[in-house]
Amino acid sequence: MFCPNHHKNPLEKVLFHHVEVDYCPECLGVWFDKDELRLAKDDNDANLQWLDFDIWRDKGKFAVMRIDKRCPVCRIPFMEVNYDDSKVKIDFCKRCQGIWLDRGEFKQIMMYLIRKSDYELLHQYAKNLVVQLWEVFSGPEKFREELEDFLILLKLFNYKFVVQHPHINSLIEELPK
Ligand SMILES: [Zn+2]
Ligand SMILES: [Zn+2]
Repeated sequence: MFCPNHHKNPLEKVLFHHVEVDYCPECLGVWFDKDELRLAKDDNDANLQWLDFDIWRDKGKFAVMRIDKRCPVCRIPFMEVNYDDSKVKIDFCKRCQGIWLDRGEFKQIMMYLIRKSDYELLHQYAKNLVVQLWEVFSGPEKFREELEDFLILLKLFNYKFVVQHPHINSLIEELPK
């Protein structure tokens, strides 16, 4: 599997909270496979009270468009999913339902969370988890610094974005061919 940005760069695996995620060592973009997200969702987690909040709560605020970048698995063009004023752009594959996040997009999500003030709660939560996860984390040093943020993202995708898939799919269907 190759990076959608650097087509000659093979993606490497990193383990987060029992979930294998693929990333590009060059640009640090991250690929979330649908099955990997599903596995994380089944993961028993006693600290999920914070799930009451949802940055993607309003389905009416999603917008999708076709872009040039391609899914590393299916090789078809990604759909770029936008939400409201978040400036968050998520590259979504309509066939395999995987998600690609560029490093910049990753930062935008964190900025959005900070603006919406749900961040403190998440941050506390992630901090606790990070302590537990430190020893099992198999990724590169570069990622370690951002492990907390990354974990928050992973959780958001597991429990929230994935839930929106059916709606995003129907928006994709409505796009002009
Ligand atoms: Zn790359
Ligand atoms: Zn795909």
